[in-house]
Amino acid sequence: MGDRFVTDFQGIRWTVAELSTRLEAGSLLRDKAAWMEDLGKDPVRETSMAKLLAGEISMEIISQAIQLTGSYGCYRDTPFERYLRDAKSLCIAGGTLEVMKNNIARKILG
Ligand SMILES: Cc1cc2nc3c(=O)[nH]c(=O)nc-3n(C[C@H](O)[C@H](O)[C@H](O)COP(=O)(O)OP(=O)(O)OC[C@H]3O[C@@H](n4cnc5c(N)ncnc54)[C@H](O)[C@@H]3O)c2cc1C
Repeated sequence: MGDRFVTDFQGIRWTVAELSTRLEAGSLLRDKAAWMEDLGKDPVRETSMAKLLAGEISMEIISQAIQLTGSYGCYRDTPFERYLRDAKSLCIAGGTLEVMKNNIARKILG
């Protein structure tokens, strides 16, 4: 029997499929925000949604990446620790995710 990889497990394949799909949705939302800016329309709702989704997705992805690599993901001499810090920074710098939710709610509800 040849080499087996954790990515052969269906549960792990589903995780990769789900997170890739959410990442693609975040990219499309980002592109829509940029498109609205190019058109000269107010992009605050879309930019806030894009940052909210990107922040949430990045935390999910790095958390799952550590989980899927098992103990390897916990070693300090691997890049995971930095990716986790980078993802958290995305959720804070330039406006926290809570502030993004305030922006979105204000655009929807006034
Ligand atoms: C990596 C990194 C790079 C940065 N780079 C820069 C930079 O180049 N230039 C710069 O000026 N700043 C920079 N910052 C600062 C960043 O913009 C602030 O950290 C960010 O705006 C949050 O402000 P704060 O840290 O004062 O948190 P606070 O505003 O004190 O927030 C603390 C908590 O309260 C929540 N909160 C605050 N207000 C509300 C509200 N109205 N409703 C609900 N929840 C709320 C926040 O979401 C957060 O969870 C950087 C931060 C990081 C992490």
